Amino acid sequence: MDRIYIKRLEFFAKHGVFPEENVLGQKFIISAVLHTDIRKAGKTDDLTESIHYGEVSHMMKTYLEEHTFALLERAVETLAEKMLLEIPGLEKVELELEKPWAPIGLSLETVSVAIERSWHRVYIALGSNMGERESYLQMAVDKIRQKEGCQVERVSSFIRTAPYGGVEQDDFLNGCMQIRTLSTPRELLEILQGIEREAGRERKVHWGPRTLDLDIIFYDQEVVDEEDLQIPHIEMQKRDFVLLPLREIAPYLRHPVTGKTVGEMAEELTQHYVM
Ligand code: ADP
Ligand code: MG
Repeated sequence: MDRIYIKRLEFFAKHGVFPEENVLGQKFIISAVLHTDIRKAGKTDDLTESIHYGEVSHMMKTYLEEHTFALLERAVETLAEKMLLEIPGLEKVELELEKPWAPIGLSLETVSVAIERSWHRVYIALGSNMGERESYLQMAVDKIRQKEGCQVERVSSFIRTAPYGGVEQDDFLNGCMQIRTLSTPRELLEILQGIEREAGRERKVHWGPRTLDLDIIFYDQEVVDEEDLQIPHIEMQKRDFVLLPLREIAPYLRHPVTGKTVGEMAEELTQHYVM
């Protein structure tokens, strides 16, 4: 992706762990790399097609002067989030915050912290087979839409499917959604589990009846292999109730490990049924 650089912008602020620092203040320096597509601005010479580095410079300086944090880590984390939420077209931001006069009793050129934060595209499968199934799925979509740092981009239709896993229970209603999020995979899992709990979900029987089930299917093209979190979802290629709604909203999306598209996986699974 194209980049816009803001290098070593100086300002005076009060971040620090020592109380004296929060009163006296000192010099800080911020640098940023803004990742955004500037092809259109390059073709049209129109600033509104790009990001205004002057405005961004003032925004960063004002934010870091008007807030006081103990840690540089906190200062850049909150600034990166604000920038990604407020600057249209900003996909990813790299920030480095320097504190050249850090009071550590030694002479050094500078200390700094640097982070890289971005939007992520995620696909979530929704399922319910207890009570008002449709309103549980709709509630999940609404709750995710209301989270700061989550934007719902597409929602599939909700389809009825027979239960899976051999436990005697009612039919399911299933769907999939595409979102954009600033959360990490683990933070997103916690958000989804919180919404499941709000829907009154109790984990009694594995694969048993549930008011609401929310699974992360894909998170960008990332692969996560941890004890309690696997992405892409480990069972997705076997589940028509995931693949069919997902195919409605993302037929050409590719599994990062097998290289198959959602359309191909759905096709393979339904052919399997006929035989
Ligand atoms: P299932 O979704 O397979 O029907 P549960 O919803 O009861 O079963 O999930 C059981 C566990 O699956 C959760 O506690 C969670 O830690 C784990 N898990 C692993 N990978 C994922 C994922 N990609 N999305 C959601 N949960 C996951
Ligand atoms: Mg689940």
